[in-house]
Amino acid sequence: MKVPFLDLKAAYDELAGRAEPALLESLRSGWYILGPEVETFEAEFAAYCGADHAIGVANGLDALRLALMAVGVTPGDKVLVPSHTFVATWLAVSQCGAIPIPVEPDPGTCNITPEGIRAAMVDGAKAVIPVHLYGQPCDMPGIMSVAHDLDLKVVEDAAQAHGAMWDGQRIGAHSAAACWSFYPGKNLGALGDAGGITTSDPDVAARVRLLRNYGSREKYRHEVAGDNSRLDPVQARFLSIKLSVLDDWNARRARIAARYLDALSDCDLVLPNVAEKATPVWHLFVIRHAARDAFAERLAARGVQTLIHYPIAPHAQAAYAESGLDDAALPIAARLAREVLSLPIGPHLAPEQVDAVIDAVRTEA
Ligand SMILES: *Cc1c(COP(=O)(O)O)cnc(C)c1O
Repeated sequence: MKVPFLDLKAAYDELAGRAEPALLESLRSGWYILGPEVETFEAEFAAYCGADHAIGVANGLDALRLALMAVGVTPGDKVLVPSHTFVATWLAVSQCGAIPIPVEPDPGTCNITPEGIRAAMVDGAKAVIPVHLYGQPCDMPGIMSVAHDLDLKVVEDAAQAHGAMWDGQRIGAHSAAACWSFYPGKNLGALGDAGGITTSDPDVAARVRLLRNYGSREKYRHEVAGDNSRLDPVQARFLSIKLSVLDDWNARRARIAARYLDALSDCDLVLPNVAEKATPVWHLFVIRHAARDAFAERLAARGVQTLIHYPIAPHAQAAYAESGLDDAALPIAARLAREVLSLPIGPHLAPEQVDAVIDAVRTEA
């Protein structure tokens, strides 16, 4: 049996009956940037996260970059970031002219911890970006408390964590700003690039609104040298529909994760560790295997498609060749890059496909 890593066509098909009339209305409306439908989605998503404000932007990278600018990160500042993350977390810092300072994660959850932040702290650090990687939430109360002690602003990278909870509270309202990607493959995905920021700080909200729209509140008056990074009504309409099924689709992911955790517990590999207070949303189901590449090839030969998130750590990218960071300084990131492997998971993976993955992993691990 063929098991694709992710089936976005099936996700669209389930919603097409509801989405297409709404999308057609948007296409015919004559209004194509920001506007009332964007405001509706912003209000719905803010309420979902328990935050006072949501601001739609063009993509997740912009959400991070504009949030960092809004909390006051300026050129030359240092910003603590996970050593193991998608490169966008680091790029947002670099694009502000700031310097990413890596924090090694807990290898069990793959997330950074309050203790890790303390250990990595340097003079001149202005902010920290916890990433809720793979849909596993970070210990936000712990991180907020350490950040308070160290006088760090906190901007969350929540691009993989729509709906995740720590101790019963949804991610999106703990820090100065939580940054979201609505890239199609994310748990809450649009029909193209899209992103957003949630915050309960009215100053951060006002600043991001200004920055996303040419630094302008009033047409042709530019208060700051802002950007063009706006959400459009077609994406917003689709995201509103997607938001209404998010909890259901996350629950489907959780059922698949529970089956994998149960059925693969005696295999020769490392399963994801879920922190006691965490309710993850399983954006990815990431295992570790000592001989990862050969294992992935054997799974592929049996029709099971896997991906690697991520095969090269940010510090080892050509883009960061001048950082002076190497694998010896960041052994956990280096090891995760060698060993992690993402198994298929998603709201449209059929029970027989889950069985096929389990069977293939149990035979080949
Ligand atoms: C997807 C992602 C981003 C970037 O989002 P885009 O919408 O692709 O710009 C940032 N951080 C993480 C952890 C991501 O997974």
